[in-house]
Amino acid sequence: MEALAVLKQAFVKTFGHADGLTVVRAPGRVNLIGEHTDYNGGFVFPMAIEFDMMLAARKRTDQVVKIHSIDYGSTVEFTLDCPLTYDTKELWSNYLRGVLWAMQGAGAHLGGMEIAFLGTIPQGSGLSSSAALEVATAVAVRHLTDFNISQPDLALLCQKAENEFVGMKCGIMDQFISMLGEEGHALLVDCRTLDYEPIPIDLGGYQILICHSGVKHSLVDSAYNQRRQECETGVRILAAHFPAVQALRDANLEMLAACAAALPPVIYKRCHHVITENERVLKSTKALKAGDLISFGQFLNQSHDSLRDDYEVSCSEVDLLVDLARKVNGVLGARITGGGFGGCTVNLIKGEAVEEFLAQVIPAYQKETGIKAQVYTSKAASGAEIL
Ligand code: ADP
Ligand code: MG
Repeated sequence: MEALAVLKQAFVKTFGHADGLTVVRAPGRVNLIGEHTDYNGGFVFPMAIEFDMMLAARKRTDQVVKIHSIDYGSTVEFTLDCPLTYDTKELWSNYLRGVLWAMQGAGAHLGGMEIAFLGTIPQGSGLSSSAALEVATAVAVRHLTDFNISQPDLALLCQKAENEFVGMKCGIMDQFISMLGEEGHALLVDCRTLDYEPIPIDLGGYQILICHSGVKHSLVDSAYNQRRQECETGVRILAAHFPAVQALRDANLEMLAACAAALPPVIYKRCHHVITENERVLKSTKALKAGDLISFGQFLNQSHDSLRDDYEVSCSEVDLLVDLARKVNGVLGARITGGGFGGCTVNLIKGEAVEEFLAQVIPAYQKETGIKAQVYTSKAASGAEIL
């Protein structure tokens, strides 16, 4: 059965009938390049994918909120008469609670509602199922409450929900692309100004292939927050010499070299990644616009090497997946995508080479790790929409 039919059926089973429903879809995303640059005020280049979150919502006449997770088969209920608080049992519900909390804080007049949702985005794999859930919730609640807010500002509230309510200090990329993605395009986003440029994903005989390593190391959230702190330390040291540096986005390699003696080696490496990664994003989008896929692939490779060596957010399994992919004739580039410590790789691959990828990479990876990696392909999808 189609996801929409499953959603409606489950809504009716849980809440009685399907009258007055608002149905929203919000996509996951794959970041093509620009990793750990968003919270440094820099550039990212994600595209929305065809895997998504589908959410149905309806107003109630009281202040009670009921939310049903179809995939987890679990329902939570709370009242808006009390302040919204973190749920230590049904952790999934905090993404929705957080969005309600952030929207309320921004002035939305919330009332009771019934919500059911399900998703096809693999969870915890770096394809941003969490942001898709937040964005789907926000778009539905905006519609139900007639809250007047722009798309980028609503994406910022979703980020606030994840940062301050859930406790994951992510940048703006995931919520932004899930909200504003455009079919057939990836978005070059300036995460400082939130200006963005849709760039056609016109790959000729090539395609984007996503490969899930099947691992998620538990340190991901704590290490992510630690990387942010290391970047802030780097900014403080660089700013002492170059006051114009307010974020690593403002620094360049000459400045880094000039401050090398003052920077602890680990901080130097973190800054080196962010500075070079920002440059790679801009060079990549230029290459893509010029149809130069060879260079684009090389930038993807350099990005991975920098994330592995300088930023130290890869892991042995993902490194293996990348190394195996690069041996396939027809793979122009392969790198880790998402926050790190497991999750997915993104590969730029010739259409005819996909069979070889499946025949070589997947068995070799399984032989070494005992894990069967999952492969996904997706065109660039559109951002959140009311169906
Ligand atoms: P990612 O965003 O990379 O997929 P996260 O750890 O940030 O990984 O978010 C995953 C969490 O989001 C899940 O543990 C769950 O709480 C919530 N989530 C994602 N998809 C669903 C779903 N289909 N149903 C319920 N909760 C979901
Ligand atoms: Mg997430």
